[in-house]
Amino acid sequence: MSTESTARDLFASMTGHEPDGVWSAPGRVNLIGEHTDYNEGFVLPFAIPHRTVAAVGVRGDDRGRVRVASTFAAEPVEVALGELGDLFPTPTGAAPAVPEWAAYPLGVAWAMQDAGITGAGVDIAIASDVPVGAGLSSSAAIEGAAASALNDLWSAGLDKTALARIGRRAENEAVGAPTGIMDQMATMIGGVDTAIFLDCRSLEAQQVPLAVAEAGLAILVIDTRVKHAHSTGGYRERREACERGAQIMGVPSLRDVSVDDLPRAAELMDDVTFRRVRHIVTENQRVLDTVAALRAEGPRAIGDLLVASHASMRDDFEISVPELDTAVESALAAGAIGARMTGGGFGGAAIALIDADATDAVSSAVNAAFTAAGFAEPALFTVTPSAGAHRDA
Ligand code: ADP
Ligand code: MG
Repeated sequence: MSTESTARDLFASMTGHEPDGVWSAPGRVNLIGEHTDYNEGFVLPFAIPHRTVAAVGVRGDDRGRVRVASTFAAEPVEVALGELGDLFPTPTGAAPAVPEWAAYPLGVAWAMQDAGITGAGVDIAIASDVPVGAGLSSSAAIEGAAASALNDLWSAGLDKTALARIGRRAENEAVGAPTGIMDQMATMIGGVDTAIFLDCRSLEAQQVPLAVAEAGLAILVIDTRVKHAHSTGGYRERREACERGAQIMGVPSLRDVSVDDLPRAAELMDDVTFRRVRHIVTENQRVLDTVAALRAEGPRAIGDLLVASHASMRDDFEISVPELDTAVESALAAGAIGARMTGGGFGGAAIALIDADATDAVSSAVNAAFTAAGFAEPALFTVTPSAGAHRDA
């Protein structure tokens, strides 16, 4: 059954009638530019074919309540629109006052209301085929689907960038995950055959043709199935280290530190903070170099940049895990042009840029390496850049 049919069925079983419409938003892969978004730097993600679908209908009873259901959860969660402001923002470090999954769509409704936009009560039923907690941004996909639906049903008229900001507020302040804007922008403005070169300071976005298939290549996702959580622990610590580094350098954010400034940074800060800073500064440069290489020579030219990015995340930023390193190393050993972990780290997925006709060979090699290391079997699939959020029906 398609994800859309699943969402429609869930909606019908919750309400007894058909939805007013169906909206969906994709997960994403980040080609390069990791943890640079909240440092106001550069990223290069693209939307993947996996999508989260929201079947949504305005409630006839007009009691001003929003009810959300997901295939994830046995029970819907229902809240009065007027009470969303009592639930959110969630205090830093605390768990949301609703089940965590419900804080994503309800947080979107709250962020819309906080921006002065509201409307009738709604029912929202959610289904998804985006792997969850895999670094492929199922979180931005659920936010993007909910935000797109409410934007239409509440006649808000917000543009895609504004909807991305709504999604980010839900994630940061309702869920409590201190993530940057990359995922929400990618899910909103992604497009077929194109990566999104995003300046996370200005939110100016350029489409960069990937032309992977034309070059005889494919992008293989290796989902290690090691789950991560961004609302706690390492992600937050990395953010704090970046803020500390920027403060020591006397700049608003690490975006303002260049590769030439690194020797001075090394003198001013402790080794751990310096290595966190060095990752961000060199990663920003790698994004710029990747965009230039794609434009000048095409995707075959970016392999070394992907590999350097992974090494920087493993050694300087220390957000990789053994499963991700094994994924990258085994793919490269099997002939991948480049490979790196993708997403926030501490688990999740890696990507490998491979010859399309080597997909089976690389997949077998990765599987064999996981078995040899005693790791659980990874999920392997190829992705192509796909459409961003839109109304489906
Ligand atoms: P990622 O974005 O890499 O998949 P996150 O930890 O950022 O990982 O987001 C995953 C969380 O998003 C899930 O634990 C769940 O709370 C929520 N979520 C994602 N998709 C759905 C869905 N279809 N239904 C309900 N909640 C979802
Ligand atoms: Mg996420």
